[in-house]
Amino acid sequence: MDFSSFKFEPALQEGLDAMGFEQPTPIQEKAIPVILEEKDLIACAQTGTGKTAAFILPVLNKICESGSSTLNTLILAPTRELAIQIDQQIQGFAYFLGISSIPVYGGGDGVVWEQQKRALETGAEIVVATPGRLIALLAGGKINLDTLQHLILDEADRMMDMGFSDDILKIVNYLPKKRQTILFSATMPPKIRQFSMKILHQPEEISIAIGKTAEGVTQSFYSVYDTQKVDLVKHILSQKAYEAVIIFASTKENVKNLFKALKRGFDVEAFHSDLEQVEREKIMSAFKNKAVKILIGTDIISRGIDVVGIELVINYDTPSDPEDYVHRVGRTARADKEGEAITFVNPKDQYKFVRIENLIGMEVTQNELPEGLEAGPVYSREPKKSSGPKNKNRKPNFKKKGSKPASKPHHKPKQAPPAQNPSPQTKPAGSKKPGRFGPRKNVVEE
Ligand code: AMP
Repeated sequence: MDFSSFKFEPALQEGLDAMGFEQPTPIQEKAIPVILEEKDLIACAQTGTGKTAAFILPVLNKICESGSSTLNTLILAPTRELAIQIDQQIQGFAYFLGISSIPVYGGGDGVVWEQQKRALETGAEIVVATPGRLIALLAGGKINLDTLQHLILDEADRMMDMGFSDDILKIVNYLPKKRQTILFSATMPPKIRQFSMKILHQPEEISIAIGKTAEGVTQSFYSVYDTQKVDLVKHILSQKAYEAVIIFASTKENVKNLFKALKRGFDVEAFHSDLEQVEREKIMSAFKNKAVKILIGTDIISRGIDVVGIELVINYDTPSDPEDYVHRVGRTARADKEGEAITFVNPKDQYKFVRIENLIGMEVTQNELPEGLEAGPVYSREPKKSSGPKNKNRKPNFKKKGSKPASKPHHKPKQAPPAQNPSPQTKPAGSKKPGRFGPRKNVVEE
């Protein structure tokens, strides 16, 4: 199937051609016809599957057909990063259409607030908003949603988790009763289903590989002590001249500490909630332009970033929520690209990783720690009886082959070497033994 079967308006098809979109992804194949038919829709699709285009393209086509320039579509997203990303995709597709969109999100300074208000006065066919900021604009009478025909909720599960349910219901009260409502979510827990019953009307349902990580991602993990993690990250990053890597840590303290440990030898930036919006945008755009090669962040970046060509995602800390794993890993292998995801699992996080394996429906390949690092903890998928190994507080332990364990590591951060040794990180140089479950590339079924 190719995009021509949707019979989009020529100017939209031109935009698709310009962006190099040839074939629809499975979620696009299923969702676009339903949205074109004006039906309400609940779609379960993870990031990286092309879900954004799945709802943007049919809506743009309808706006184009109608020829109207009033506010037509409201897209709600949980984070400003995601709102900006959606807005950018709209601008790409709508390049030849003369349709405009406005991102509306909180957190910026007074200048951003003024810009958003002015943009709304000028008018646009599409508004992409985070719920909190939109409520503020509605309360101030700065935006009128009477002409709205489509409401789209993106990452609905994350919006629920962030406590936006009431805000969304309040926003819905401002909308015309007769409208098309589309809800996209990476997961479909009962609370989403119950919520959707309040705002959707006889929706069609589509599901693409719930809880599965995107195809094309090679996933593996290391069983490590916390004290080994920094050296292991340095080792992995030194295996190849990476152009785009994201490292996820669980807290902003871990992000900051890892940033300090890596900043001397690597081209790295930290992204966390203590940064001003302007700084966040600067870092994100530097990362997108490949001016910064490695981005360390909390889950704040796991959903709202769309950078094509991320080669490697490292979970420096095992995510507590298995669904966060799917989102983090979804940062790589976007659409038909290949990517790699490596997770560090410390003894107390082993049970979390088992839950992740259960959600994604596969056993992930374990890597041997590279030569120079002492043995890591034994990884077990069985429920724990004791509370873990006794020597977990030992010092970092990179050591030379054949030498005694060094009490102080002499381990200079390395510059990323030229790519003469582009061995995959799943089997780092020096790792002679195959992984615990064999060096297979993971196959993810739908
Ligand atoms: P999403 O799941 O919406 O975050 O999209 C993931 C990435 O895939 C984005 O970079 C899109 O631009 C890209 N993409 C989406 N659909 C297609 C397609 N049909 N062909 C090629 N790339 C696509």
